[in-house]
Amino acid sequence: MTDLQNIVDEIHAELSPRRGEGKVADYIPALARVDAKQFGIAVVDLDGNAAIAGDAKTPFSIQSISKVFTLTLALCRSGAALWTRVGREPSGSPFNSIVQLEAERGIPRNPLINAGALVVTDTLLDGRGAEGAAADILAFMRERAGGEPVTRDAEVAASEAATGFRNASLANFIRAFGNIHNPIDDVLGVYFGQCAIAASCLALARAGLYLANEGVDPLAKRRVIDAAGARRICAVMMTCGHYDASGDFAFRVGLPGKSGVGGGILAVAPKRAAIAVWSPGLGAAGTSLLGGLALEKLAARTGWSVF
Ligand code: GLU
Repeated sequence: MTDLQNIVDEIHAELSPRRGEGKVADYIPALARVDAKQFGIAVVDLDGNAAIAGDAKTPFSIQSISKVFTLTLALCRSGAALWTRVGREPSGSPFNSIVQLEAERGIPRNPLINAGALVVTDTLLDGRGAEGAAADILAFMRERAGGEPVTRDAEVAASEAATGFRNASLANFIRAFGNIHNPIDDVLGVYFGQCAIAASCLALARAGLYLANEGVDPLAKRRVIDAAGARRICAVMMTCGHYDASGDFAFRVGLPGKSGVGGGILAVAPKRAAIAVWSPGLGAAGTSLLGGLALEKLAARTGWSVF
């Protein structure tokens, strides 16, 4: 791990002069006021050794990274039947695009765009209701984070709800095709709540370890999802984890990953480690600028690209 700590320290030092570059998400005040100069990296290996640098222990809004965890819960619950309601093809469209839904009759392209994530979240409400589903998501993430704090930011959740017209449109549109079954407001409430989860790079990397370990949380020594399910989540992260910048991320980094508009990215190095980076400044595709660069350097120096 010393080597890895050196690599992480080096990458942090090299990119630090660029802190503050990019554009912080400004669609809600709670995200707009985040200090753009923050930058954290955490790498946790399958034995639980952590290499961290910078603001790796500062909680931030995980936003769409939550979609990986809800997808896991939904696959555990619904199994392969989930794929009749959501596809697994990259969308080539921005995160909140509605254009494909009409032609594809309410079956979203994949579970990591907003439309698909809303369907995934809908399945979690079945038999559990909104409160039950929200509690399940938070409990699952807390368990995976192994004691690192994971909380729900009520202010972010409320602002997401107050400004979430496009997500409401997506949900209503999907519902019109019969592919959302629970009350729209309940589904949206749970979705906004999952986006508002706050966790640090260290917590996220720890939480993502089961994806690097064929579905078994190596520290809790507990199977989270079957090996095939974990592989499929990684495949979808690789092809769809960064919206219309997914190809570029695969090209540059070569690891399954999922970005969030809060500036975090969770990446998986299969059979080795989980990695989380965070810097709030976003590039043109709405993913963390420094985070992407850090992962590119990390993949190059460790040789962890899956290709
Ligand atoms: N809360 C955002 C939305 O659903 C999340 C987008 C993202 O992180 O990419 O619009």
